[in-house]
Amino acid sequence: MPVSFTDLTSLQSNQLVESMVEPEYRAKQLRKWVYHSMALSFDEMTDLPLPFRERLKNEVRLHSLEPVQSLTGKDGTLKVLFKLINDNTIESALMFYGEDRGVERRTVCVSTQVGCAVSCPFCATGQQGFERNLTPGEIIDQVLYFARYLREKDDRNGSPQKKKAEHISNIVFMGMGEPLANYDNLWQAIEMLNSPEGFGLGARNMVISTAGLVPQIKRLAGEKLQVGLAVSLHAAENELRNKLVPLNKKYPLEELIPACREYSRSTGRRLSFEYILFNGINDSITQARALAVLLNGLKCHVNLIPANTTDNPSFQPPPGRIILAFENELKRLGINVTLRERRGQDIDAGCGQLRSRFLKDPGNSPGKSAIKGKV
Ligand code: SF4
Repeated sequence: MPVSFTDLTSLQSNQLVESMVEPEYRAKQLRKWVYHSMALSFDEMTDLPLPFRERLKNEVRLHSLEPVQSLTGKDGTLKVLFKLINDNTIESALMFYGEDRGVERRTVCVSTQVGCAVSCPFCATGQQGFERNLTPGEIIDQVLYFARYLREKDDRNGSPQKKKAEHISNIVFMGMGEPLANYDNLWQAIEMLNSPEGFGLGARNMVISTAGLVPQIKRLAGEKLQVGLAVSLHAAENELRNKLVPLNKKYPLEELIPACREYSRSTGRRLSFEYILFNGINDSITQARALAVLLNGLKCHVNLIPANTTDNPSFQPPPGRIILAFENELKRLGINVTLRERRGQDIDAGCGQLRSRFLKDPGNSPGKSAIKGKV
């Protein structure tokens, strides 16, 4: 079985090259081709000797994802369903923010597991059950896919002066799965995505989202890289949160919030709390006040996210006036709050929706793409 190049740390790729009796600088060349040039094949690596390239073709896999479907939303959001080497599927998305305001952000939403064991009832991924953790390379390859997509979009547009702007600016680990339940693989991927020898993206431009794994939040507080942390809260009292985020039964708010306070104190970083607003469930003024009390004095920011309009009638977004009232109440109580722009509403925006449709009917899902081959 060939090894995936993006599964390797720098040290491991040095050792691989050494095992092939090549000088160590060849490993640097390889990393440059993979992470900077985003090569699609070993044939492109023309500064490597031909016999070495032939050996690499037999023993090393360059990419671990095969795009099988893609959908593009009216707002430009691109959602892709990938098949993995063992035929599991995952989905990822590229979202564009702020182009109208001159602050251009291109954010990749990355999956870290196949399925998810947390089983949030409103989430399509949560209904699929847990299959396995993604490897570091499968996490990294999602980013490289979209980076390559942006580069090719530039080439198609023929606008070399825009090349810099068309790079990925942010990565959020908010796709399928609970990222902190796959801590070691996630962290290896983050180190390579951050490394100047790897993808070279600033740690502050990456955010890990968690449903509230308290021991891993404590572990994250000790890491040197300044990656952001977002906690999916969705309720400010245990009874409701036990239903919306079942992990709360294991790590209730009286453990989660002190861990967040400790994280903020020891790192000096501001946390984000994600709060999806569901009509008639967690959107009252009383609940806004309870949220403000819970987060009182914590260096944080609340992202309010109106629920996606999914097929599930139990979890619909509130009317606009209710959303506005909730937001205004938090502001009045001194909480930093942003109403998140909804992206990809017309293309199964919710995490896991595209995969759910594919699992139900692989031959007849929307957006069956013409994309071919591993990229
Ligand atoms: S919302 Fe996140 S944590 Fe909850 S089931 Fe979905 S992927 Fe898992």
